[in-house]
Amino acid sequence: MTTRHETGTATTRHVLILGAGYAGMAAAIQLAARVKRREDVRVTLVNPQERFTERLRLHMTATGQRLAEMNIPELLEGTGAQFVRGWVTAVDADAKTVRIDDDRVLHYDTLVWGLGSVADTAAVPGVENHAHALNSAQDAEVLADRLARLGSGTVVVGGSGLTGVESAAEIAERHPELNVVLLGRGEPGAAMNPKARAYLRSALERLGVRVRSGVEVVKVLPDAVELAGGESVAADVVLWTSGTRVSPLAAAAGLTVDERGRIVTDATLRSVSHPDVYAVGDAAAIRQGYGVMHGTCQGGMPTGVHAAVSISRVLNGKRPKPFRFGYYHTPVSLGRHDAVVQFTHPDDSPRRVYLTARMAVRYKETVSASPWPTYGRMKKMPASGAFWPHGGRFTRIRGAR
Ligand SMILES: Cc1cc2nc3c(=O)[nH]c(=O)nc-3n(C[C@H](O)[C@H](O)[C@H](O)COP(=O)(O)OP(=O)(O)OC[C@H]3O[C@@H](n4cnc5c(N)ncnc54)[C@H](O)[C@@H]3O)c2cc1C
Repeated sequence: MTTRHETGTATTRHVLILGAGYAGMAAAIQLAARVKRREDVRVTLVNPQERFTERLRLHMTATGQRLAEMNIPELLEGTGAQFVRGWVTAVDADAKTVRIDDDRVLHYDTLVWGLGSVADTAAVPGVENHAHALNSAQDAEVLADRLARLGSGTVVVGGSGLTGVESAAEIAERHPELNVVLLGRGEPGAAMNPKARAYLRSALERLGVRVRSGVEVVKVLPDAVELAGGESVAADVVLWTSGTRVSPLAAAAGLTVDERGRIVTDATLRSVSHPDVYAVGDAAAIRQGYGVMHGTCQGGMPTGVHAAVSISRVLNGKRPKPFRFGYYHTPVSLGRHDAVVQFTHPDDSPRRVYLTARMAVRYKETVSASPWPTYGRMKKMPASGAFWPHGGRFTRIRGAR
């Protein structure tokens, strides 16, 4: 097998963006729009599929609902950015090269790492072989097909975080013929205020979801899950939503990563070990005044925009600015006809105010539908994507430049 090496020219800066998820897309569109008139900058976006994966809505795909087609190369048209379809198999951070599908090597001057995260299917034995996960549209379609053919039986959703809650609610609503059991260590909606949490809990009950909190799944078998203490819960289908993990490629490339493999960044989102690498979205460990950000779309898109703005500033001979972000909401769908939206302080702790029912459904839908039009607007007006809550006193880091 011969490997194709693709290089820039001595006078062209090549910015390579890995992963066209919520954060990588934001970085690509924002940067392409800002450097459109520069002949000395080339932007390339790498992703395994041309279709944008609306990860926020994978639980809808998993219950047979069709989502709009969003084509990444089409969105990039007119920006000058190039799309490369492929899977990143290795990165050499010293040689500044990225290997795609084992047969193509791209050189970069600046790298934006937006490879996201996937459900952690390795932490509990049996999950890898016997459980479904919502990591891609294909995964979700396989689960949809299985649920549609089941007819009757029990679906166990492992993990009572928000992905577990949204998935359990959606499955129960779309498949009233199935028993849906939500298992997890914590109570569903644990981070919400007591009233919002109680609303969420009663919505799950209304949909017929059986919730068991305070339990630990220790093994997944072909027809059951085993709990700590030895109890076994029968399961025709298991969906695993507990925990996330990131690609091992960053650690393998010698980048400084945290205990979960996420790239540790400085205040401007550059890797602390390799300043020509910016890390964005779920794949990055970004410290704010309240702690390290956790993976969300609401925080991921701003990281992508900020990385692009920083790269553009550096190209113009300026210094990048520190990134600051404060959370503002947790919108949770409870099937198609109900939802709860918890408004939050910048450190993600719950405020007293929350929305429920139709208002919450409308709010959640607006939020989930907003990324693609936002990218479209950024293409024409890059500054339109550069607004998000900075978090006030919650995000001030002493000593940050
Ligand atoms: C069902 C579900 C519901 C959710 N709901 C919400 C919500 O309501 N609100 C919220 O804020 N967050 C929600 N999240 C979390 C949110 O989806 C993530 O935080 C967000 O997608 C992170 O964006 P990202 O760009 O970092 O990564 P991703 O969106 O995961 O994108 C990563 C991209 O990189 C690509 N990639 C990965 N590895 C490689 C490789 N080796 N080579 C090439 N490409 C690669 C992937 O194919 C993907 O396109 C939800 C997640 C799930 C699963």
